[in-house]
Amino acid sequence: MKLRKKISMLLVFGMCFSTMLLPNSSNAYQFLSNKLYTPKDAYYWIHGAFDNYGLKSEVKRGLTAWNPLPEIEFTKEGSLPAGADVKLEYVDNYWGDTYAIHRGSGNITFYKKWRVELNSLRRMETAVHEVGHALGLDHTQKKNDSVSVMRQYGFNDKDFPLSDDKAGISAKY
Ligand SMILES: [Zn+2]
Repeated sequence: MKLRKKISMLLVFGMCFSTMLLPNSSNAYQFLSNKLYTPKDAYYWIHGAFDNYGLKSEVKRGLTAWNPLPEIEFTKEGSLPAGADVKLEYVDNYWGDTYAIHRGSGNITFYKKWRVELNSLRRMETAVHEVGHALGLDHTQKKNDSVSVMRQYGFNDKDFPLSDDKAGISAKY
């Protein structure tokens, strides 16, 4: 009787230990609280100001790069921001050190630093990253930087979601 109790205590302890450890060691992606309501039929808006610099196709990459994932499909581009799930805006000013920012609820703003200081590939990677926030992904844990477009600092020079991002979207949706 006494021995059985000891064994079951050990089992309980072991289970707690592994459930506490596993989410952090196997899942590096992190979530924000926001989530698309209709992820397979998502509506987006792209600010006309991108056209002034020939950058609409680069910023649009931020959306279409997520479409190969089974959970996500951006299907409609609207001419007005109202009602869009993801809104991509351009402001031709510097805003500190910021290339671009997701301000919540799918509202993304790109700044002059993004246009002027990044090459084409990194502009597109930045767009994919910001749309990742709009989909509800937060920055990944640092150790997974090389397999995530959601790294907090630096670039992988890849303009599409990587394995950690795909796992995050799959878990979220
Ligand atoms: Zn970010």
